Amino acid sequence: MRAIVVGGGIGGLTAAIALRRIGVEVVVFERAGELREIGAGISLWVNAMKALERIGLAEAVRETGREEIGGTIRTPGGETLSKIPADALEERFGLNVVLRRPDLQRVLLAALDEAGGLMRLGVECLGFWQDGSGVAAYFADGREETGDLLVGADGLNSAIRARLFGDERPRYAGFTAWRGLADLGDGREEPGFEAWGRGGVFGLVSLGRGCFYWYATKNAPEGQRDAASGRKAELLERFGSWHEPVPSVIWATKEEDILRNDVYDREPLKRWGEGRVTLLGDAAHPMTPNLGQGACQAIEDAVALAECVRGEENVANALRLYEEQRRRRTADISRRSRLLGRAGQLENPLLCRLRNAAVKAMPLRYQLRQLDPILGYEA
Ligand SMILES: Cc1cc2nc3c(=O)[nH]c(=O)nc-3n(C[C@H](O)[C@H](O)[C@H](O)COP(=O)(O)OP(=O)(O)OC[C@H]3O[C@@H](n4cnc5c(N)ncnc54)[C@H](O)[C@@H]3O)c2cc1C
Repeated sequence: MRAIVVGGGIGGLTAAIALRRIGVEVVVFERAGELREIGAGISLWVNAMKALERIGLAEAVRETGREEIGGTIRTPGGETLSKIPADALEERFGLNVVLRRPDLQRVLLAALDEAGGLMRLGVECLGFWQDGSGVAAYFADGREETGDLLVGADGLNSAIRARLFGDERPRYAGFTAWRGLADLGDGREEPGFEAWGRGGVFGLVSLGRGCFYWYATKNAPEGQRDAASGRKAELLERFGSWHEPVPSVIWATKEEDILRNDVYDREPLKRWGEGRVTLLGDAAHPMTPNLGQGACQAIEDAVALAECVRGEENVANALRLYEEQRRRRTADISRRSRLLGRAGQLENPLLCRLRNAAVKAMPLRYQLRQLDPILGYEA
C-alpha cells in the first residue's frame, strides 16, 4: 500500500511515521523549500505523549524536551487565581513535555528517515482526483503522484480540504498572538503560568536553564499591522507593567524572533473525507491555541489513522472508521478551546472581575474533572 501525505508539519510527519511503522510505503509532499519549524516552543500534553508512546516516539521526544506541569492562572499583578498542584496533575494524568518546535521537528524527521519514509520539499499540491483503483495528487510543478490513499495534512488553509468541501474561509477568533523564546542568561527557574488581563493573556513555559517559551495575545481586527514602533515595543507597552518575569522575558527576546499570527479556527466538519482521501490535524480541525491542543490532536489523529488502516483492508472503510473515531473528540476540544479563548480575551472590567472570581472559586476537584476528557483520553 502507498500513501501520499500532503504537508510536512507535525501532523503530516507523525502520520507518515505511524503509517511506515505498519508497513505502508509513504511519501510526504511539502510546499516549503526547506523545513523550518517556526513558532518558538510547544507543549505536548500527556494525551499526545500517550499517542506517541504507541508509535515508539515518546522516549525520543521526552529526551529532547523537558517534562513540565502546567496549570497556574494568575492576574497581571501576579496574584494566583488558580493552581492545580503538580502532584495532583501528575498522579491523575502524567507529565506533559515542552520543547522547542525545531527540536520536535528534528525528532520527527529522524524517525521518518529511520522508518524509510520519503520527503519531497518545494512541491505544492493543487488537488487530487481518484477512482476505484487509486488516488492521484497533482502539483504546481506539473508532476502527478499516485497512491492508494491520500492524507491532507496541509494545515489551516488546506488545498485538499478546499478540493473536498469548497474554499470556505477560516473563522477569525478576534485576537492575535505573539510568540517568542527568551534566554534570561541567569539559569533562572520560574514555574510556568498564564496571566489573564483585560483583552489579553501572557503565558510562560520554562524550557530549563533560564530559557523560556512565551506567548501573548490581544484583541485586534483581523490582519492588523504591527505598531510602527515594532513588536517588542508594543509588547512592552502592553505587558511591561505585568509581574516579573513578564517584562524580563520580553526584553530578553530579539525583535526579529518575535512571531505574530492572527488566530483562527473553523466550525467542525461533518465529514473529513471521501473515498481514498482524508484530512488530518489543522486541515481537519483548526482550533484556537488556548488549550495548547492543536498539535496534540494532530498527533492523536496520526496514530489513530495508522491503527485504522492496519485493521482494515478496504482503504475507504479504514479512512471512514478513522474519521468516525476522531470527529467528535476534536470538535469537542475545539469548542472548549474557543470558549477558553473567549474567557481569556474578555475586555469589560466587570466581566473580567467576575471571571477571575469564578476561576478563584473553582474547586480543585472540578478543575481536574474539566481536564479529564482532554488529558485522560485513552484511544
Ligand atoms: C500561538 C500558538 C500556540 C500554539 N501552541 C500549541 C501548543 O502548545 N501545543 C499544541 O499542541 N498546539 C499548539 N498550537 C497549534 C499547533 O501549532 C497546530 O495545531 C499544529 O502545528 C498543526 O499541525 P499540522 O501539521 O496539522 O499543520 P501545519 O503545522 O500548518 O502544517 C501544514 C504543512 O503543510 C504545508 N502545506 C500547506 N499547503 C500545502 C500544499 N498545498 N502542498 C504541500 N504542502 C502544503 C505547510 O507548508 C506546512 O508545512 C499553537 C498554535 C498557535 C497559533
